[in-house]
Amino acid sequence: TTPSSSDFIRETITEDLQAGRVSQVVTRFPPEPNGYLHIGHAKSIYINFGVADEYSGKTNLRFDDTNPLKEDSEYVNAIKEDVAWLGFEWDGLFFASDYFEEMYNRALLLINKGKAYVDDQSADQVRETRGTLTEPGQNSPYRDRTVEENLNLFERMRRGEFGDGQKVLRAKIDMASPNLNMRDPVLYRISHAVHHNTGDKWCIYPMYAYAHPLEDAIEGVTHSLCTLEFKDQRPLYDWVVRECEMPHVPHQYEFGRLNLSNTVMSKRYLKKLVDEKLVDGWDDPRMPTISGLRRRGFTPESIRSFVKELGITVAGGEVDYKLLEHHVRQDLNLRAPRTMAVIRPLKLVITNYPEGQVETLDVKINPEVPEMGMAQVRFSREVYIEQEDFMEVPPPKYHRLYPGNEVRLKDAYFVKCTDVIKDADGNVVEVHCTYDPETKSGSGFTGRKVKGTIHWVSCESAIPAEIRLYEPMLQEDADNALPFDERMNPDSLKVEQGYIGIDIKDAQPQEKFQFVRQGFFNVDPKDTTPDKKVFNLIVSLKSSFKI
Ligand code: ATP
Ligand code: MG
Ligand code: MG
Repeated sequence: TTPSSSDFIRETITEDLQAGRVSQVVTRFPPEPNGYLHIGHAKSIYINFGVADEYSGKTNLRFDDTNPLKEDSEYVNAIKEDVAWLGFEWDGLFFASDYFEEMYNRALLLINKGKAYVDDQSADQVRETRGTLTEPGQNSPYRDRTVEENLNLFERMRRGEFGDGQKVLRAKIDMASPNLNMRDPVLYRISHAVHHNTGDKWCIYPMYAYAHPLEDAIEGVTHSLCTLEFKDQRPLYDWVVRECEMPHVPHQYEFGRLNLSNTVMSKRYLKKLVDEKLVDGWDDPRMPTISGLRRRGFTPESIRSFVKELGITVAGGEVDYKLLEHHVRQDLNLRAPRTMAVIRPLKLVITNYPEGQVETLDVKINPEVPEMGMAQVRFSREVYIEQEDFMEVPPPKYHRLYPGNEVRLKDAYFVKCTDVIKDADGNVVEVHCTYDPETKSGSGFTGRKVKGTIHWVSCESAIPAEIRLYEPMLQEDADNALPFDERMNPDSLKVEQGYIGIDIKDAQPQEKFQFVRQGFFNVDPKDTTPDKKVFNLIVSLKSSFKI
């Protein structure tokens, strides 16, 4: 790691502005619309938009749509939605495919200058003759075609006279270059496919390495910020801009990709999970996609503060998923209303509480934020508690409910366990208690203390809710031997039938709550209906049930 490198891009920009090489910073976020955005893209978005913003510059959202086979307008729409949801406003909205005509004309220029040629070799032959790091490549037998012949063939490629793979246009640079990217890279390929934007207007498509620098130059991008795997392409990037005689000269800078522990971050793999229905679509709450994180309940603020903390480092490395969780906890702690909800219910009967009586208790919505005000919850003779808050035979230091022990029902009374009711198989189905009316919360009772406080929901008004608990989508795989789709964690989704209280009966999709003692939860926007609320666990509370 190079610690101070976190600012190398800002340093460059500052120098460029001071030296007058650049008058206004222009960046772009250039996704290929071949899948949904993931958390890694959020880093790139934050850097491109964030840096331009700091220098009062501009940022374009540009779809790098040069591969018709994989691209779709569904992805275009999803990407726009995700970037906007993250809180970024693009200046220009562009499609690389809108520049196809200009790119074609620049290719003609290259041919005219003797800098590009049509090659009849197959993709395999081109690869095989490229050489290695220690051996130079071999010139193609078609490398010395005349300008006229190249122009003629390239025009006929465009007209559709050849089949896929029959010909390519290659740059004529240097088959002995120490940089493999400079060994006559392919600039155009033939693909008779329908493009999401240009339909069947084209059957030749520019390669990324040729298209990207031209896109940047056309849009007046000053600083083209991309991930490290493009570093070796930088000389080619500069070659394309120069040889195509682009009036505006952009420059490429590279930063480290974000990798998250135990998380797949490649659209190809994510798409496979979606296509094979191993997940509930791109927005499955287990997915590291922006839409998945949104549905899970992550906030744009938490994602932004997470990527902000990562900074612009050259070093890649792996970031612990826990850091992302830390940011959402921080954000929701002071914003989310708190409520008592029971995930795995066990009925508690307070035998000395009057039958049919219901009390309304005023509780703070968020004790850390008094301005959030008060809510009302109900209390009655029967309440649900969490199964794990009762044990018939408690281990040492267990301060929750067990026969003979007294605990506080949060915001209500002390209750003391008197009896356990079991079914024929010996499972505990009901716990009986008595309560002490003197101990009501807020009454100032100091007569005695209890060590445990547990949460509850009054049975008479409890609202059933589906609660979805998540674990990492992938299982640990120490040697990374298994393909990702075989690493699906079978426990990554657990569905429980629990209860919420009437204080959150009007919860709307995407509303977030802290279920006290448990975690933060989001009302699922896809599966929640007027009759059934579904909650997604966003993240558990850090302290594991210590009260
Ligand atoms: P993937 O490998 O997941 O398909 P990609 O790089 O092919 O990703 P693009 O749509 O081309 O996806 O990415 C748009 C921009 O986002 C690029 O500039 C790319 O460098 C950047 N980007 C993609 N993944 C990450 C990541 N994990 N961390 C940081 N930036 C990323
Ligand atoms: Mg890409
Ligand atoms: Mg890709």
